Parts: sequence; structure tokens; C-alpha cells
Amino acid sequence: CGIVGYVGPQETSGRPLDVVLEGLRRLEYRGYDSAGVALVGAGDGQVAAAKKAGKLANLVAEIDANPLPAASAAIGHTRWATHGGPTDRNAHPHLADDGRLAVIHNGIVENFAVLKAELVDEGVTFASETDTEVAAQLLARAYRDSKDLTTAMCEVARRLEGTFTLLAVHADLPGTVVGARHDSPLVVGLGDGENFMGSDVAAFVAHTSEALELGQDQVVTIRPDAVEVLDFDGAPAEAKHFTVDWDA
Ligand code: GLU
Repeated sequence: CGIVGYVGPQETSGRPLDVVLEGLRRLEYRGYDSAGVALVGAGDGQVAAAKKAGKLANLVAEIDANPLPAASAAIGHTRWATHGGPTDRNAHPHLADDGRLAVIHNGIVENFAVLKAELVDEGVTFASETDTEVAAQLLARAYRDSKDLTTAMCEVARRLEGTFTLLAVHADLPGTVVGARHDSPLVVGLGDGENFMGSDVAAFVAHTSEALELGQDQVVTIRPDAVEVLDFDGAPAEAKHFTVDWDA
């Protein structure tokens, strides 16, 4: 339902979590039933994640009780359940690759049953009832093959049917968030030594008004000093630059 992503330079910083929670607050107007965040830093090779059914305040209480480590990248999600009830386990992010990869998703993966059967046949076990976890497990498999998260995202985007905005982080890649979109919006906020993503500009408008609107069927990789846009075949693509006129 609501999506936020952030990358910055400081692997010892609390800013990624602050930016993402602030973005989720600004996206609350869309309505949601659960919320979660995932962070990567230069830590122990794992993604740090927290997710809770209910209001954002539940997630914040969970994080207060079990603080998350400093990070250089973060993603956050507010969920409006379509597949699987509004429980802690079904909340996003969904983890894969032994807790090293985290994925959040807006939309519906229409062909999730076929893809899930394929993965279960390969021995993959699922922790939720969501369509989204199929995308997370597919991405983990593609990443193990290519060792390139952007290439892996292109491959997964080609296989998914339905509607999606997807964001992913991997513990191997501090300061990196990869996104993709098909029939669901994704915008990039351009900062100074930091960059943002959102399902709409409310996610980052407190920090920058310079933005890119991703086109249909594009994949984007953000790092603190770089934004790379590709089509689903991995060829360079252009996203539309615009300036947010928040009063309009
Ligand atoms: N279909 C996904 C789920 O039920 C994503 C829902 C959303 O857009 O928030 O988990």
C-alpha cells in the first residue's frame, strides 16, 4: 500500500530508519493494516527487520523494545492485505536468502500459485501466506545465480504477472535499494548524497522536491550518489524528471 526507501552514506547512522518511519507516517492517509521496515548496514551479514500488524505505533513500540542497528539503507511498508490475513507474519518485509534479502511489495502477484509450486518443488519453505513472499523467494534464487541484485530484479519482474511496486535490499549491498514497477507507481527522490524512493512523493517530500517518475516496466537502483534506471531487459532507460510542487 505505502512504500518508502532510503539510501545514505552513513553506515553508523539512525537516519535511514527515521526517514522511512517519517515517510510511512506521511503515507498513512492511504489506509493500511500492518507495517514493517528492513535495514542494511555494514553489520553481521543479515538484514535487520521489524514488522507488526496494526498501526504504525505498534511497529514503533516493537522497535523501541528491540532497537534496530545503524544502517545505510532502509525500506518501509504499510500493507493493505490482499493475500493472507493482516498478521505479523504476513506483514512486509518478507525475508529470503537466509535472512539476507528483504522485499516489500504493493499490488498483487496474480501468478503466485504457479510460482510458489515451482519454488516448493525446489525445497523452498514459506513463512507467510502472501503472494509477495513468492517474489522475495524468486529474487533470492535469481540473486544466487547472477550475484547482481539489479539483474535479479529484472529477471523477477519479467516473470511476475499482476501489479507490483517492489523494493529490495540485500545484506551484501549496504547503501543500495533496488525497485521495480508494473501497473503500480514508483517515484525516486533525488537528495544530496542520499536518495529516496516512494509509492508517492509524500514518502520523501520532507527531504527533497527533485524527483524522477519511473515509467512502466522499469527497474531502478539507488545508491547515495547514483540512480540507475533500466527496462526489464536490463537496457538503460529514462525516467521523467520533475519538481514536486507540494502546494499544487
Ligand atoms: N498483495 C500483497 C499482500 O497482500 C501486498 C498488498 C499491498 O499492496 O499492501 O501482502
